[in-house]
Amino acid sequence: MNIKFRSTVLAVAMALTAGAYAEGVRQSPINIDKKDVVDVHHAPQITAVYQSSATLNVVNTYNPNRVPLVHKEWATLRATPSGSSYVMVGHQQYDLLQFHFHTPSEHKVNDKGAPMEVHFVHLRTGALPCDPEALLVIGAMIKPDSDAHNELSKIFDRKDLPEDSTKSAVSITNFDLNKVLPKLDASWRYSGSLTAPSTFTNCSAQGGSIEDQLSADVFPENVQWVVLTKPVELTRQQINTFKRLFEEGNSRETQPLNGRKVYHVHH
Ligand SMILES: [Zn+2]
Repeated sequence: MNIKFRSTVLAVAMALTAGAYAEGVRQSPINIDKKDVVDVHHAPQITAVYQSSATLNVVNTYNPNRVPLVHKEWATLRATPSGSSYVMVGHQQYDLLQFHFHTPSEHKVNDKGAPMEVHFVHLRTGALPCDPEALLVIGAMIKPDSDAHNELSKIFDRKDLPEDSTKSAVSITNFDLNKVLPKLDASWRYSGSLTAPSTFTNCSAQGGSIEDQLSADVFPENVQWVVLTKPVELTRQQINTFKRLFEEGNSRETQPLNGRKVYHVHH
């Protein structure tokens, strides 16, 4: 983490202590305006150490039987890989918990979105998910391409992807986690939040219940975001397969920056 990035995190942490939390000061997603980003050449390098032959357990998190019902827009198709996979950010390790998808994309670049976005969710090794800055999410836009994506086709060519949490999970073997994301060395980084309400297990209450978070429109603010500048590509047919699962979309609107800086990292 470079000094500028660290001081922003610190400033935000102080703002949180000052009680600004209830209003939300660092919500996600955001629009990344290329003319406003801060160029950084010496940010810590992100290196993935991912399983090359993982088994994925793929579920749809929408629970139609929950009372009160939480709208499907806050659900996703979530893949949890077997084995240990992690990234190193400088000398800090973050363990991969799961990855999931949104349609349309949540982040925008110069006000332009993409048909989908993928999020790889990592937890700082040894941290609780509610701890400050515990989560690191690496996201990438997904754009249409004429060629099928070798690895993601193992998910999106399936005919039995679950429509909701009452349907069976899908198991996908021999999945190479290294082949989903483009190179990790070109990214935009900023301090933000989850993009859907969430309560954390093993944590003291943080941010309130799902209903409280939805009514306040404030989601837990402990995420360091890395949005890759290069997109992932799927065929239109594969994108449509996902869109059929979330016909009304499952993306949150972009949120105000509130003075936050977005760092454009190149190596
Ligand atoms: Zn997400």
